[in-house]
Amino acid sequence: MNILIMGPAGSGKGTMSTQIVKEFGVAHISTGDMFRAAISNGTPVGLEAKSYMDAGKLVPDEVTDRMVKERISQDDTKDGYLLDGYPRNLSQAHAIESMAKEIGKPVEVVINLEIPYEALVKRITGRRLCKTCGAIYNIYSNPSKTEGVCDLDGGELYQRSDDTEEKLAVRYNEYIEQTQASIEYFNEKGLVHNVNADRPAEEVMEQIRKILEAVK
Ligand SMILES: [Zn+2]
Repeated sequence: MNILIMGPAGSGKGTMSTQIVKEFGVAHISTGDMFRAAISNGTPVGLEAKSYMDAGKLVPDEVTDRMVKERISQDDTKDGYLLDGYPRNLSQAHAIESMAKEIGKPVEVVINLEIPYEALVKRITGRRLCKTCGAIYNIYSNPSKTEGVCDLDGGELYQRSDDTEEKLAVRYNEYIEQTQASIEYFNEKGLVHNVNADRPAEEVMEQIRKILEAVK
């Protein structure tokens, strides 16, 4: 089964991806990992991407597209793939659709994690991490027993510098502006399943499981 998973940062995409891969035996392709692997393996397209990155430039869509094609062509996707973090815009959506068809591994289902902006604000700005053990808390939904102190080891809790509403707003607007168009594109093809991600992870996964079992 060939799956795309979409959702803004903080929607729980990573958690759901890990679970989908475990339950459905598909290859997890996250763009971050894919770039790191292509660069460290020194593939031609990896080296090309690296030259842009070394120059402090954005990797053009066309290079990313070829890297995705190279990646989904590998043997470990014979039972399917889960693409996470791609496509990010309409141009990449067109690209994945045609490339995946071309190699006989067409996109079959798009999981769209939906979450209201206000819920994301709480998830992101409420997040606190332990300096000692890395445990993750949330001051709204999963607070430590004593404010600012880790329950497990008494370590000091801190907020990551990226976890501010200002940075969240930038990332979120970028997501809506760019990625929404690709969701609409796949929606017209009848591939999109909207999932309410503003719920506990087990409930979100339960709905995803039903969707994927029906598609399988
Ligand atoms: Zn701790």
